[in-house]
Amino acid sequence: MTETKNFINGCYCDSSSGKTFDNINPCTGELIGKVHEASAEDVDRAVRAARKALYGLWGKMTDMERGAILHRVADGIEARFDEFLAAECADTGKPYKLASHIDIPRGAANFRLFADAVANFATEAFQTPTPDGQGAFNVAVRKPKGVIAVISPWNLPLLLMTWKVGPALACGNTVVVKPSEETPLTTSLLGEVMNDAGVPPGVFNVVNGFGPDSAGAFLTEHSGVDAITFTGETRTGEIIARAAATGLRDVSLECGGKNPSLVFADCDLEKAIEGTLRSVFSNSGQVCLGTERVYVERAIFDEFVSRLAQEASKFKLGVPTDPDSDMGPLVSREHQQKVLSYYDLAREEGATVVLGGGVPSMPAELANGAWVEPTIWTGLPDNARVVTEEIFGPCCHIRPFDTEEEVIELANDTTYGLAASVWTENVSRALRVSRQIDCGILWVNSWFLRDLRTPFGGTKHSGLGREGGVHSLEFYTELQNICIKV
Ligand code: NAD
Repeated sequence: MTETKNFINGCYCDSSSGKTFDNINPCTGELIGKVHEASAEDVDRAVRAARKALYGLWGKMTDMERGAILHRVADGIEARFDEFLAAECADTGKPYKLASHIDIPRGAANFRLFADAVANFATEAFQTPTPDGQGAFNVAVRKPKGVIAVISPWNLPLLLMTWKVGPALACGNTVVVKPSEETPLTTSLLGEVMNDAGVPPGVFNVVNGFGPDSAGAFLTEHSGVDAITFTGETRTGEIIARAAATGLRDVSLECGGKNPSLVFADCDLEKAIEGTLRSVFSNSGQVCLGTERVYVERAIFDEFVSRLAQEASKFKLGVPTDPDSDMGPLVSREHQQKVLSYYDLAREEGATVVLGGGVPSMPAELANGAWVEPTIWTGLPDNARVVTEEIFGPCCHIRPFDTEEEVIELANDTTYGLAASVWTENVSRALRVSRQIDCGILWVNSWFLRDLRTPFGGTKHSGLGREGGVHSLEFYTELQNICIKV
């Protein structure tokens, strides 16, 4: 049994209210441990500690000095790789082979990248003419934005949290993190790593709890927070944006998606099937960038559907530690019920169920886990809720198309605009189509091929702002113009 405490001013502490909530193993439904729920008073202490640390040693360090400490944080994650892996997989149920390849290495990489990037982050300088002929120098300098509230989701807990904490700290800010109530373990473990790496107390704080009337709301509504960075559902993003409006605080929102994959008949079919398989089913479909709508040119539609279904039917569902597990459960029974409600809805809306569509039969000890079958549908109308709403499960709808114009229109027929994939061997078509898709991230003949220096984020209901490389550094710093009269 684990006991997960809040981490405030460099120390693990109990909730001042004495309230705890359960952490459940999604594979079995069994209790993993108890989590201390931060009260408004605890959140206030965390924000105050972050404010004090901002003006203390941390604020006086050079970028290089902070960068060296952040490299030690990355070293610490790598040194305790197995502990992070076990914690992440216990919380999420995802296979070790996935988390050891993606989640944990990226957790460390997020610190290394921004520790180095900030040292090369230049600003502008101008020589300005003045009436007396002496002139002035105008320089722009960057300063930390202040105390940053980090609100993170459960699908890639360590990866997405450090994607914010890495650049925020590299820029000299201090943070208060509210991890998802479903997945508190790796964020908590990071507190120890921060202490061991020499991060001063108060620079990194963690408050556990839920959203409304809990740690999430207490934090985002706290007047001592200077900016908020959030990843999660669009509806939550809207609430956070409203909280940020009070006091005109800056906000970064990475929200949901209903991402299309466009498969042209001139694609490399093997690669398109392998890539689509990953984009639909990786992490049991719980990836914001994942594909839920697949459009396939009619000439290869039947073959594509049957081969994708054939490959997906080979997935082995199992516990994280089983090296043969390709897919884990969903994150919780609650999310399982949501995804299964879409499985039922698909039938009501007239889908042909090509694969899955229900709960898999699992061994008795896993019977209370949040398992769902990998699922493929065809035959739904374009306005079906299953085709228009984000499901966030291991499922997709596949629809044929005849022309480039038609598929561009279909791909853009969504309120979301996060990511898309285009599969074609024709470079001109790839560029022509890519430019016309309304989304923040577009892959040609690939999926989830990430370069952390590139802009990451969505259009429309998928978010506000960009993370990654200089875009993160811009968000986590305030520009100040200093004008020096000669
Ligand atoms: P969620 O919005 O339910 O929760 C995200 C976080 O917000 C959690 O920590 C939660 O406790 C907190 N929260 C909820 N209500 C709040 C409130 N009123 N005030 C303050 N905090 C509040 O999202 P989730 O279910 O954890 O994650 C899945 C969603 O995240 C999906 O929609 C997915 O597409 C999206 N997502 C987006 C990206 C991206 O980069 N665009 C990445 C991963 C996940």
